[in-house]
Amino acid sequence: MTDTLQPLAPGATIGILGGGQLGRMLATAAARLGFHAHVYDPDPAAPARETALHHTAAPYDDEAALRRFAGAVDVVTYEFENIPPAALDAIERLAPIRPSRRSLVITRDRLKEKAFLEESGLAVAPHAPVEDMATLEEAVRRIGLPAILKTRELGYDGKGQARITTPEELAPCWEAVGRVPAVLEAVVPFEKEISVVIARGGDGTTAAFDPAENLHEGGILRLSKVPAAIAPDLADRARAMAARVAEALGHVGVLAVEMFVTQSGLVVNEIAPRVHNSGHWTEAVCPIDQFEQHIRAIAGWPLGRGERIADAEMVNLLGEEVLEAPRLSRDPHLRIHLYGKSEIRPDRKMGHHTRIVPWSRG
Ligand code: AMP
Repeated sequence: MTDTLQPLAPGATIGILGGGQLGRMLATAAARLGFHAHVYDPDPAAPARETALHHTAAPYDDEAALRRFAGAVDVVTYEFENIPPAALDAIERLAPIRPSRRSLVITRDRLKEKAFLEESGLAVAPHAPVEDMATLEEAVRRIGLPAILKTRELGYDGKGQARITTPEELAPCWEAVGRVPAVLEAVVPFEKEISVVIARGGDGTTAAFDPAENLHEGGILRLSKVPAAIAPDLADRARAMAARVAEALGHVGVLAVEMFVTQSGLVVNEIAPRVHNSGHWTEAVCPIDQFEQHIRAIAGWPLGRGERIADAEMVNLLGEEVLEAPRLSRDPHLRIHLYGKSEIRPDRKMGHHTRIVPWSRG
């Protein structure tokens, strides 16, 4: 599946749905390549407002605002997958959306995503659909306990999830996820978690970054490091799996595939059809980072190779940890990146830092 694009000329405008930290970093990368960024985010204080030339602050159901936005840009991309389909309908008539709707439709729903992965020949956790208490009980009979109940849509950073260990927890967990369509997943006995961030161009070429090893705390990413402590052939397999996902989606842009490393091989946890927190280290040690790769792909420019020039360890700054930034900056090997969020909330992603570990010159 190819989407051969006329390369956008510098001076063109890139529309970005979502003005959080990912939108902010995409807008910065766009500006570095001579593009203008126009961010669409309901929040007038969205982090990307500082790095984008234009900001439409309107809700995602404001058709007139969406149409004005789409009419003012050359291509539309996004920083999150939960965009209401009606918003895409309004935009699609006026501007191309890259990555395409197929990538969004499949990855915003955990059940569709798992079916797609299995059809693509990739392993996923044993799982069963849940619609109500009766189907939850049936799913537990099939999957066993412990298991994790996850909402099909709108989950992120461990939200919309509940771990079930005993039958008594079924009803409270069903309440906890909000009694909405869900998936029950077996708990995967993983040794490590890794992710591969990969870019795919409209001409079908792909470029994967090295797999990162990720540590989560309470469902939130805490740390990503490269290289991941895994055998080289496993790293190659992980890259090949990410390429298969990108190809099967006909994806144009960057995507991330999160995987569990288990004794019997790699199991895919989930796909994010966009730049990803576990790829933030690329800005510190890759001449062409995930944000530039994404902009290149959606602008119809050739991709960079995704190579890196040092090892790296990225740590998220959550909540009040951001106040440590001036002290952290005394360390000359830390690259600090803050998102300009005015309100500090517990566990809110406020920034990150990446330790750059140069390869020794032997
Ligand atoms: P998710 O939002 O699905 O990425 O889940 C967040 C984190 O919860 C993952 O990165 C894992 O650390 C953990 N987790 C999610 N699903 C499973 C599972 N099926 N088995 C074991 N751990 C899981």
